[in-house]
Amino acid sequence: MPVEPLAPSRPAPTTPSTPATPTVFDDAVARLGRIGGEAGIEEEILESLRRPAATLTANLPVRMDDGSTRYFEAFRCRYNDVRGPAKGGIRFHPAVDREEVQALALWMTLKCAVVDLPYGGGKGGVVVDPKSLSRMEVERLSRAYIRATAGFIGPDTDIPAPDVYTNERIMGWMADEYETIVGRKAPAVITGKPLALGGSHGREEATGRGAWLVIRELARSLGWQPSSIRVAVQGFGNAGYHLARLLQQDGYRIVALSDSKGGIYSEKGFDVESVRCEKLASKEVRGVYCEGSVCHVVDHERISNEELLELDVDLLVPAALEGVIGPANADRIRARVIAEVANGPVRGEVDRELFERGVIVLPDVLTNAGGVTVSYFEWVQNRQGLRWPLDEVRRRLAEILPAAFREVHGLARSEGIPLRDAAYRLALRRIADATAAQGTRTFFRG
Ligand code: NAD
Repeated sequence: MPVEPLAPSRPAPTTPSTPATPTVFDDAVARLGRIGGEAGIEEEILESLRRPAATLTANLPVRMDDGSTRYFEAFRCRYNDVRGPAKGGIRFHPAVDREEVQALALWMTLKCAVVDLPYGGGKGGVVVDPKSLSRMEVERLSRAYIRATAGFIGPDTDIPAPDVYTNERIMGWMADEYETIVGRKAPAVITGKPLALGGSHGREEATGRGAWLVIRELARSLGWQPSSIRVAVQGFGNAGYHLARLLQQDGYRIVALSDSKGGIYSEKGFDVESVRCEKLASKEVRGVYCEGSVCHVVDHERISNEELLELDVDLLVPAALEGVIGPANADRIRARVIAEVANGPVRGEVDRELFERGVIVLPDVLTNAGGVTVSYFEWVQNRQGLRWPLDEVRRRLAEILPAAFREVHGLARSEGIPLRDAAYRLALRRIADATAAQGTRTFFRG
């Protein structure tokens, strides 16, 4: 019998034709390829990271308060799980799409490797404006999300957490729905839960605190005196608020703050707690100073989110959404340091330009890794049936983040490369080591 010739190698998966403007995912993959290529990471590893392992799409039927049913498109992406179960938040936002979820999941893969957590990367999202829903509708939507993804997520496969416009209450509903479906307690399926359901002390502040620890290290290396440093924060949500609060405690001057409705600016600086109290009461960022429950308006200007980014400050903190600094405005950015607390606020297309202009970018995969690090602590506590006190959570976080900064900073200095490139190199090397340790490559090479 003639031996059948070996089948030709399978054709590469076809990719849809490239759109005119690169999507956030195209941009993320291009940046990965550039940095990985320059670092000499094996093409096989880079290729494995150019696409997610799996992305689930679902349409969630939700009974509205008026009795009608609305459908919400939802995604969960398990991007890569070579180093451990996928890990990543769930975003509720009208602009969520598959490309964004995949980009966020790729960054989670890199982030977990930068801080050396035993996780891969994932992410989820629902196309919804949660502000337009009642509390009960948000609860039904959150539970519907879990019903659609229960077979996809799990404590050993993919562990969600909060992200933009989701919070610990939503995580509580989601954990409860998952446990109802599987018929047993499984708190480690989701992190960022309320304390009463197995959440961790310190999770809520973790992203801001982690960013503060990283900025403190950079400030030391630059010889910064906090009192002479002016800071602008875009996005006064969970991450932005806690970071602004901690920086102000250190003596930094917070001269600008914003939320989705716009921003405020004052050369004298704001009292972060006062602005926070007012935001909780009026749902708006307003320039106030409060004594007890009495708030007075202080001298300030109203500015747009675009203007905030272009302020002449020392430290600019984009802490809202991705892609806010790109080809259209990069040349107008005057900050000396950009601390990426949001995921992906700086487009890859302008990395080189900012570096050549001497702007230091503290990359998201390091700067906002405090959130996933304390999520990891929560998962560890859930699996062991333990509860660590707040001091212990903070102590452990204060070991991991500064050490990661020093590793990234040391590599960046010795190689003369941007901090992001150094962080990606460390992450890609760890992912490559794990992939090699799985062992199949050498077998096939004979
Ligand atoms: P959040 O929902 O608590 O806050 C988001 C804030 O951004 C709100 O104040 C909102 O008004 C503001 N905002 C929304 N759209 C805006 C716009 N177009 N311009 C300016 N502000 C806008 O969310 P969060 O948890 O603080 O997340 C913020 C960023 O940090 C996101 O990029 C998220 O992925 C990233 N992040 C969060 C965590 C976490 O643990 N929460 C961890 C890592 C990274």
